[in-house]
Amino acid sequence: MASPSLSELYTHFSRAAARGDARAARASFYQLIGLRPRAPEEAPPAALPTALPARTASLLRYFQPRLIDRHALLGGARQVVKFEDLSLTEAAALARELGQRGLKVVRTGPYSKRFDVTTTAEASARPLYNVIASWGTQAEQVAEAEQERSLEGARRAGLALGYPACCVEHFVEVERRARATRDSVNELALRSPRGQGQDAPWPSHLLSNLSPIGFVPCSLGCPEALGFAARVLGAVEQRAPEGRQLIERALRRPLLFFRYPLFYALDGVATEREGARGVRYAAALPNDDGLGTPPALRALAHDELGRVLAAGDELTLDAGALSVYAQGALLARWEVERPGVPLLLRFTDAPAACRR
Ligand SMILES: [Zn+2]
Repeated sequence: MASPSLSELYTHFSRAAARGDARAARASFYQLIGLRPRAPEEAPPAALPTALPARTASLLRYFQPRLIDRHALLGGARQVVKFEDLSLTEAAALARELGQRGLKVVRTGPYSKRFDVTTTAEASARPLYNVIASWGTQAEQVAEAEQERSLEGARRAGLALGYPACCVEHFVEVERRARATRDSVNELALRSPRGQGQDAPWPSHLLSNLSPIGFVPCSLGCPEALGFAARVLGAVEQRAPEGRQLIERALRRPLLFFRYPLFYALDGVATEREGARGVRYAAALPNDDGLGTPPALRALAHDELGRVLAAGDELTLDAGALSVYAQGALLARWEVERPGVPLLLRFTDAPAACRR
């Protein structure tokens, strides 16, 4: 039997959580994150945990315009920008402001998302909008191309947005695969650039509203994509010098990534231990996307992973296991069930073009 698609796994989880089946919910959760549960399944949890983490990190946020793109546009580093996933109020305010500055503005929507899994179930009740703004006529071209909802439309929109051709072609392939497998395009896209699993230059960090690259690069070292990032960072530096430093600090933090809405930002530095890539850290904070990843999923992640990460100060991940240590002693180890699902993303210096 073929392994279940990601949207099926989320649906299994949601159904188990809704009927209060702690054993099934926990089993689905571990399938989702690609690890084997530590405790034997014969001793299932009595009830679903409900406690949420006290502290979170807001990396990917819905409903807020990406300020970095606004700087890039107003600073002239980009001719056209698409601001995605905005509330009606935010979209209206942004469209008004950019229009007053003399930009061509097109608003599209409404649409809805369920923490980015392609499924008809439990669609978000909160309608979302895009604002596309350009100095020339590109905003209309992008909106028109996207209306097609075809691969060719995605290609034309990407090129009209000024993204590098190599990265646009790469994204069209990802989109084709997403349509074929019914998996979330964002999930596939994030895992798709070449060079995954190796340390990458920090401007290629894709999991934050502060990321200078707002598209999916063909590789984490793509010179075209990093050149694009350098132009955006240059515009930020001109308009808000302290913003450039803040972005670098935020994007240098390593990430322990499981799924698109489910990952941890680590305040720490790269280490090696017994040949495995690792991070020594002072804090491990879960991302909060602000869109409403189901509380049951966040609570279970906190109970199974978050608490252990909080008690530790170092972790390692290789093809075989995720291990958490406290003061050099092993605290917990999960065997990796699906290699490539959990990822440890570590970031290095920017190439010369992206430096100050
Ligand atoms: Zn590229």
